[in-house]
Amino acid sequence: MKVTEVHVFQHDLPVVDPPYTMATQSVYSLDTTIVMVVCDDGTVGYGETCPLGSTYQPQHALGARAAITEVAPSLLGLDPTLHGQVNSAMDAALLGHGYAKAALDAACWDLAGKAHGVRVCDLLGGATRERLPAYHVVGRVPADEAAETAARLLSEGYTRLQVKVGGRTVEEDIAAIRAVDAVRPPGVRLVADANRGWQVPEAIQVSQACRDVVLTIEQPCNSYAELRALVGKLCHPMFVDESATDLQAVTAAIQDGVADGFGLKVSRVGGLTAMRAIRDVCAAHRRPHTLEDTWGGDIVWATTVHMAATVEPAQLDCTWLSQTYVDGFYDDREPVRISDGWIEVPSGPGLGVEPDASRWGDPVTSFTR
Ligand SMILES: [Mg+2]
Repeated sequence: MKVTEVHVFQHDLPVVDPPYTMATQSVYSLDTTIVMVVCDDGTVGYGETCPLGSTYQPQHALGARAAITEVAPSLLGLDPTLHGQVNSAMDAALLGHGYAKAALDAACWDLAGKAHGVRVCDLLGGATRERLPAYHVVGRVPADEAAETAARLLSEGYTRLQVKVGGRTVEEDIAAIRAVDAVRPPGVRLVADANRGWQVPEAIQVSQACRDVVLTIEQPCNSYAELRALVGKLCHPMFVDESATDLQAVTAAIQDGVADGFGLKVSRVGGLTAMRAIRDVCAAHRRPHTLEDTWGGDIVWATTVHMAATVEPAQLDCTWLSQTYVDGFYDDREPVRISDGWIEVPSGPGLGVEPDASRWGDPVTSFTR
């Protein structure tokens, strides 16, 4: 089995009920990139990468397509089921840009699953369960509105809530956390995610003011140095998300005692092959984590869910898909769907998504052997 063609597509994903608000930006629509990798036996694999705009992280959509254009020729002629060789070839063609390589890496896992007639999660070690908990975001809204949203989500079946904080006064953040906590029954997990939006004093003030709330604080500040400065000063566990850029960053955050857990995104760390190693390091050090991605459509969602399914339940804090925010289905069977706050693992071989590629129009670029 050899790769003979790589096609790259661009697609605009509309945000439902815009904008989506975070401490650092408001999002109205998203530019996603999909790759179709074709082999000499006719097998087709798909991958997708969709940065959350151009200011959430250094990744951006035009950068993804430029990097894929540079890397894709190195895949031609390779056996896509040999993931180490695929990643070595990509790294030899371009330094870094793991978020772009993640799409090609996912397409190769999709091809490997289809070649063996098994699911990607089974190639990655096997699903520990067939149904995964999802969390839902409570946006950066006033406290009364946050409580209303939280109550609705809980009634829909969600067992994990993430309140977006930062970018407003600490008093408003404290009020929103307390308002959501007040409607939360025991057992429902609560995270306050600042997406890098607090400074060190704000993180300390909010955490100490909410010391009686069972809460996890996620990526309170922008830099790793700021996160390090918070060690010993917070009243809550700290999860590292945006600073968990790769395996080296994850191991450093564990060794330094900075991370009590992580928010992990498949494309940010460079794809499924890279995430597999990070998953195992987190398990060895008993650091729980979420398993999610930035945005995207059902190819990103399937990639996320297959990896999340392989994480031991005690290690998996929960997962997240952008599904409730975008009109993203490329496969009319809707193989990955959040239902009552839970997600079933797709059943078909590979990623289990058979997209209708005509939705993306003509490829923006193609490579053939
Ligand atoms: Mg986060």
